[in-house]
Amino acid sequence: MNSDTHQQALRVVAWETTRRCELQCKHCRGSARNQDYPDELSTEEGICLIDNISSFAKPVLILTGGEPMTRSDIYDLARHATDRGLRVAMAPCGSLINSKTAARIKNAGIQRISISLDGSTAETHDAFRGVKGAFESAINGINYAKKAGIEFQINSTVTRHNVTELPSLLKLAVDLGAAAFDIFFLVPTGRGAALKEMEISPDEYEKALRWVDEASKTSQITVKTTCAPHYARIQTQSTGKRGHGGGCMGGRGFVFVSHRGILQPCGFLDLNCGDLRKEDFNFKKIYEESEVFQNLRKVDNYTGKCGYCEYRYVCGGCRARAYAQSGDYLAEEPSCTYVPRKDL
Ligand code: SF4
Ligand code: SF4
Repeated sequence: MNSDTHQQALRVVAWETTRRCELQCKHCRGSARNQDYPDELSTEEGICLIDNISSFAKPVLILTGGEPMTRSDIYDLARHATDRGLRVAMAPCGSLINSKTAARIKNAGIQRISISLDGSTAETHDAFRGVKGAFESAINGINYAKKAGIEFQINSTVTRHNVTELPSLLKLAVDLGAAAFDIFFLVPTGRGAALKEMEISPDEYEKALRWVDEASKTSQITVKTTCAPHYARIQTQSTGKRGHGGGCMGGRGFVFVSHRGILQPCGFLDLNCGDLRKEDFNFKKIYEESEVFQNLRKVDNYTGKCGYCEYRYVCGGCRARAYAQSGDYLAEEPSCTYVPRKDL
């Protein structure tokens, strides 16, 4: 069932191209602000990063932030990655998309954008994003993207304040013409740490994942989860076949590159696995040799119930939640209600 080769094959890289952002989202892992971040990777360094990645793998490259569209070179970087054979996606807030920038996104070869909506109305979304008018500007951005023929998905981060809005958020995504509805489950780090009390309980989490499982079977668009590893366990339980959704990919197919060029298992797990600037931009070497990445690939060495759970290879639990809770990134996932059998 387990395979080191599968664990290691690089499938997705998220590059935090900048931390600059005009919004003040309560759950932001980067606690991003509308200010300069002078240490962020330059255009030349970004090209080196893309060249090194594409020399050994062809993952999806997600250009994220902050607000990636505040970088004036974002289209050149996207074009370079596209030309190197990477599938490029981008995660803007939506407010900077107009007819001109939409055309540039399209021409840069960006295959999909994701826009976050955390409430299905202006009232709930704006409250969460911390800026009045954020909902309206995101919808405007979506409409410009649509006109330019750019595929888009809606991302929502689930917290106690919007968990009951999941059906209306899905309806909104369908009505807007999204290709997918991707549901993120809050990881209480960054500005999100102050939101610990907004995190849903393990029982609510289980109920929400069961709703996602049902919705994914009936919805006309793709309904999926991110950072809800035990969704894979729920799918496997519901179909009797190995689930494809969920599962923590941190360091196991997925890498986060910070704005300063630090490689991490993911944006929520703030562990320095290697500094591109100190390692001559040798992404491949860090990805293959970092002790943290190697530890994450040895799922049998996880401690607590995730170390012996029969779903550990498809799920693995969220390493960032384990770290936030206990200081040990190999400890058991605190948000999972499942009680595994010790004798399997
Ligand atoms: S550690 Fe948690 S937040 Fe990070 S990729 Fe895995 S599931 Fe997502
Ligand atoms: S116990 Fe751990 S590995 Fe098993 S389903 Fe829960 S989170 Fe996943």
